[in-house]
Amino acid sequence: MSSEKSLLTQWREYAYTQETNTKQGQMFWQTYFTLEQGIYEKLLASSEVVTGTVQELADKYDVELSMMVGFLDGINESLVKENPIDDMTADTVVSLEYDKEKLYYNMVAARAEWLYNLPAWDDLLSKERRQELYREQKKSGTIVREKKIGRNDPCPCGSGKKYKFCCGKAK
Ligand SMILES: [Zn+2]
Repeated sequence: MSSEKSLLTQWREYAYTQETNTKQGQMFWQTYFTLEQGIYEKLLASSEVVTGTVQELADKYDVELSMMVGFLDGINESLVKENPIDDMTADTVVSLEYDKEKLYYNMVAARAEWLYNLPAWDDLLSKERRQELYREQKKSGTIVREKKIGRNDPCPCGSGKKYKFCCGKAK
């Protein structure tokens, strides 16, 4: 077992070699973004602190284990306490207890408009606070692992427009 690649390494090697200029790569990321958004919708709408093994969370949100690994990778820096993602296995207990301000900020940093504009945010952070965090992030000039999506792909927010004319527009 110890000689095998970790789940995280497997995910990153697979996901980040998907070319967004191929049909297969586009479909992979579209699927990932749709599932990711679905998990965030449920997570943000509930005040429950979600914990369980990686496999239990995959089952809870009805996604494949590898997708759950990708989700845990993406949310890690926004958590109250980071999970041991580097060497987690399907049986590792993880928590999705997030810091709402960090999560919102990081969604802005990733330019994931379809995530930081989810309606569930209305009940979590005031509009004013969100505007402050948004401005703070934009001023910092940092882009945290921008969501991997081709400029000509359909925007993951579901607008039907191309990404480059929608959430991917230079701001
Ligand atoms: Zn969009």
